Amino acid sequence: MSTFDSYNPVTGLSIGQHALSSNEDVDAAVASAREVAPFWQALNFKGRKKALLQWNSYLLENLDDLVEIVSLETGKPISDATLEASLALAHLGWAARQAEEVLRTSHRSPGLLMANMSATVERSPLGVVGVIGPWNYPVFTPMGSISYALAAGNTVVFKPSEYTPAVGKFLADSFLEATGLNDVFICVTGLGETGKYLCESGVNKLAFTGSTATAKKVAATCALSMTPVILECGGKDPVIVDRDADLKRAADATIWSAMSNAGQTCIGAERVYVHQDVAEEFIEHCLRIAAAIKPGEPGIGNYGPATMPTQIAIIERHIKDAIAKGGRVLMGGVESVHAPYVDPVIIADVPEDSTAITEETFGPTLVINRVATMQEAIALTNASRYGLGASVWSKRNGKKIARSLACGMVSINSVIAFAAVASIPFGGVKDSGYGRIHGPEGILEFTYARSVVRTRFYLPLAFTSFRRTAGNDKLIVRVNKILKGRLG
Ligand code: NDP
Repeated sequence: MSTFDSYNPVTGLSIGQHALSSNEDVDAAVASAREVAPFWQALNFKGRKKALLQWNSYLLENLDDLVEIVSLETGKPISDATLEASLALAHLGWAARQAEEVLRTSHRSPGLLMANMSATVERSPLGVVGVIGPWNYPVFTPMGSISYALAAGNTVVFKPSEYTPAVGKFLADSFLEATGLNDVFICVTGLGETGKYLCESGVNKLAFTGSTATAKKVAATCALSMTPVILECGGKDPVIVDRDADLKRAADATIWSAMSNAGQTCIGAERVYVHQDVAEEFIEHCLRIAAAIKPGEPGIGNYGPATMPTQIAIIERHIKDAIAKGGRVLMGGVESVHAPYVDPVIIADVPEDSTAITEETFGPTLVINRVATMQEAIALTNASRYGLGASVWSKRNGKKIARSLACGMVSINSVIAFAAVASIPFGGVKDSGYGRIHGPEGILEFTYARSVVRTRFYLPLAFTSFRRTAGNDKLIVRVNKILKGRLG
């Protein structure tokens, strides 16, 4: 069996070997998941809820083991890994408990023309769902798809990132351990090729979380077999600070959002648009807070290393570009990059065409630009090719500003809070992807609608028959005119 190594990003040393799943391995996993899918569906909501809550309890009892693996493979502090796993379990519990209500058959009005019919919409699971996940939140992110797909009645084949294969294996092994159910949730480890095989395997839907560049490849591959996709991609999330904002709180939350997890958060703050009247005070708070933060290994740093070594060059390139284009360095600089760590970097007044503004940096760096009005902040926010999340700080205008933003999620007077609310959907627009996980929308994503109409009694008019007369046609037109198109 071919294998590949996973590494501890702090030491750079190998910490495990994992199966390099071939095309045949992936196809076999999907076939096994397909075979067991009717059984999982037949358990119905009650049976699936029981199994998923057993799994939830098992993960809670063994949280320390899971968290240790996350910390080892990503380099993030234990406390961050604990928060990540806890939030993921909150979603698992919610999906398990709410699936029945969300997927209940709904009764619709049949309209006047079909008044003799009953009209209902049923939701059916898709079959086998493929999930491809990233490394930055290796529990929270894929579980946003896995939990909701399983609760909706699908079986799942999961390909974790090559940087976090042990986390993926732990999740699948724990499902089997907790429920005793084989093949309902399978993990296939491997590199990018293994992900491609999963896209080609004939799964009934593919839920991808990762970079926009890979998402385009995934969508292209899946298009060949008409496999529907959900794409959760990168972002360039803004923090908008109005002049009536609580500046201390805004700065505290912004620095945490930008720097925690070494800035490797898809919905983390990457750029700030602050009203010019309060910019200096806001910047002062940011600098004071960031000065007390440093990277280091778990137990020492406030955040860890860049999990993926190749990200270091991108972070360095963005810092250099911001400075070369005239950005004012307020903290750190190119010298802040010392692989595998990056110290906090804050740069102000960065031109909007700098890569530090146009591309996802995914490092503990923050751009702070001042704006004359909130309209300017909104326009600059919406000019981005990304549209994932945003944070708005204002005592009076939060809702108004939020409504104007072209993105999938907004937190007012908080950061990334939407990710922790299980009842609302998570996802983006534009290059940040499409489709939704979390909430009722996240459960519906993993089902298809089946419309069922049933004749309750027969009418003297037979519309769907060669017995239909010219008089019948005239009657339809006349009634339609009287009702002004309200026939349906
Ligand atoms: P990548 O796009 O590099 O990889 C994502 C996954 O896709 C990995 O499992 C990878 O495998 C796999 N993959 C690589 N090539 C292919 C292929 N050709 N076909 C199918 N699968 C493939 O993303 P990262 O892992 O670097 O994750 C970081 C990105 O994820 C950031 O852009 C971040 O913003 C985004 N993200 C988005 C979130 C959201 O919900 N919107 C949440 C979290 C992160 P392998 O690792 O083995 O190469």
